[in-house]
Amino acid sequence: MSARQQKPTVDLKRLIRTIPDYPKSGIMFRDITTLLLDPQGLRAAVDGLMLPFAKMAIDLIAGIEARGFILGGAVAHELGKGFVPVRKKGKLPHKTIGQEYQLEYGVDAVEIHADAIAPGQRVLLIDDLIATGGTAEAAIELVRRSGGELVAAAFIIDLPDLGGSERLKARGVAVHTLISFGGH
Ligand code: AMP
Repeated sequence: MSARQQKPTVDLKRLIRTIPDYPKSGIMFRDITTLLLDPQGLRAAVDGLMLPFAKMAIDLIAGIEARGFILGGAVAHELGKGFVPVRKKGKLPHKTIGQEYQLEYGVDAVEIHADAIAPGQRVLLIDDLIATGGTAEAAIELVRRSGGELVAAAFIIDLPDLGGSERLKARGVAVHTLISFGGH
């Protein structure tokens, strides 16, 4: 049996630190830096994100800035695929396509390089957490506008009370999450 098959079951929830009222009152911030610090926890999270897709046809992993870069980079490495950074507006050096999404107050935007995803390529989207689903939905729009096919969106944490995973499913996206927390 390989070392990976022998791994103990890891309680991912216990490794996530919750910071009340950050960045503002009423938000329970789910801090994954404590999970990233834990070798077994990090491996369990990356394995949990990628194993359902290990035998599927996938060309690229797209990760959302910034925690989606850490997790998505590890998933891309494990699956032997390339990585597409989905960045906040204005960070990428070459020609980009962008997609705005609604925040509680105002709008924000994410971008990818216009030549990052070729038509027909099959893309797996990764981030640490899905809340309202606005950020992931914008990233999915960029994949689709590039002509890519979104295979699934995978997150460590679901906040089901905020409705993001249901919102993506309603748009025909397969959503994979490892753990969930109630509330905001
Ligand atoms: P949303 O677009 O509402 O689904 O928000 C998802 C993005 O915001 C992800 O990139 C998360 O990392 C971050 N985020 C939203 N809510 C939280 C939270 N309660 N704790 C930690 N990160 C969060």
